[in-house]
Amino acid sequence: MPNNDWLNRSLKAVWHPCTQMKLHDTGALPLIPVARGAGAWLYDFDGRRYLDAISSWWVNLFGHANPRVNAALKEQLDQLEHVILAGFTHAPVVELSERLSALTDGVLGHCFYASDGSAAVDIALKMSHHYWRNRGKPDKRRFLCLANSYHGETLGALGVSDVGMYKEAYEPLLRQAVIVPSPDARQAETGETAVDVARRAAAGLEAVLAAHHESVAALIVEPLVQGAGGMVMYDPEYLRQARALCDRYQVHLIADEIMVGFGRTGTLFAHEQAGIRPDLLCLSKGITAGYLPLSVTLSTDEIYSAFYDDQLTRGFLHSHSYTGNVLACRAALTTLDIFAEDAVLVRNQRFAERFTELLAPLAHHPRARHFRQRGMIWAADIDSSDPNFRARFFREALQRELLLRPLGTTLYFMPPYILNDEEAILLAERAVAALNAALA
Ligand SMILES: *Cc1c(COP(=O)(O)O)cnc(C)c1O
Repeated sequence: MPNNDWLNRSLKAVWHPCTQMKLHDTGALPLIPVARGAGAWLYDFDGRRYLDAISSWWVNLFGHANPRVNAALKEQLDQLEHVILAGFTHAPVVELSERLSALTDGVLGHCFYASDGSAAVDIALKMSHHYWRNRGKPDKRRFLCLANSYHGETLGALGVSDVGMYKEAYEPLLRQAVIVPSPDARQAETGETAVDVARRAAAGLEAVLAAHHESVAALIVEPLVQGAGGMVMYDPEYLRQARALCDRYQVHLIADEIMVGFGRTGTLFAHEQAGIRPDLLCLSKGITAGYLPLSVTLSTDEIYSAFYDDQLTRGFLHSHSYTGNVLACRAALTTLDIFAEDAVLVRNQRFAERFTELLAPLAHHPRARHFRQRGMIWAADIDSSDPNFRARFFREALQRELLLRPLGTTLYFMPPYILNDEEAILLAERAVAALNAALA
């Protein structure tokens, strides 16, 4: 069946995420039916191809239809697909939990599973408050989040987010977190460094903690890069100071590494670049190499031990039907195998240097501001007052075989970790061509 049939049927039956559906009907925003994927490429039903330069919403790490992940899942499928995780356990979830914990040097000793990133955030918030309640401090029930932060779409996660457009309509339903300053390096005044901005934001955090710590359970942050807020980057110094302040004022530090985890910022976990560990760590997205929904909230043994008791209701009585899904855990184990066997982080570092060079025309583009890069993320703010810039750029990119979706006027690249040099050149050259066309 050709593209047109699929997209017409899709528009009649599927409510697409994060979309004003009318834009599809008017043709302002194209809808692309995907027939198959191979490596970094997606193919539609009419034989056109698109380079997936945003890793299918930040989840894909090693390309589509990856032979190793495929083989592991096929083998697992014939053994066991899923089993209840309350009262039962299975090999992939045990091995995955042991390995994730070991990757935090054992500091985060237990893993609690769900399917989506937002659920992992809700779990971390509930765990943090319940921990303080079990420790005799039930008043600690407020949360702090950074200006411009994004932690997901469920009511709990939206309450600790600061991205107006996604939140506005639901404001009356939310328990609003206290918003503290973002260490956004773009705020540097002349003569200031990113470290100075980080220190200024930390001073703002300290003022809030000094006044309110008795009612605050946790601070939640996206370490090093605030993703949905526009790929905002900041110095690790902020995380060091936040860790010290959370210790001083007895407040949990929750690291939401749903986007930045699994090598995206250059290290396996972003918080490693600050030489710290959080009390709670949320992971998802790349964890299954983009194959299956899986999220996990890791906690310290100190947090875990506060729930361990003779009394049932002091336990963490939270669950999801697909908690610890066997196939998803198996995909995650294969992701960790590929990191270990292929020296992925070393290859990414070489790739990142090369791709940054290739993006020099964007960095020096007269309409691009604040070109920035950390690990395998590149971004620049485009100087455009056209309210349709985003849709125009998206269409111009598609015409050049690129899948790129700016966040507002922020153009960013978050490719899978497998681009070859030819693909990197194609991506960099055509992205600038698409930008010029969209601005013309
Ligand atoms: C995507 C994202 C989430 C939400 O994850 P979902 O799986 O979409 O629910 C939370 N936090 C961050 C930092 C994210 O990028």
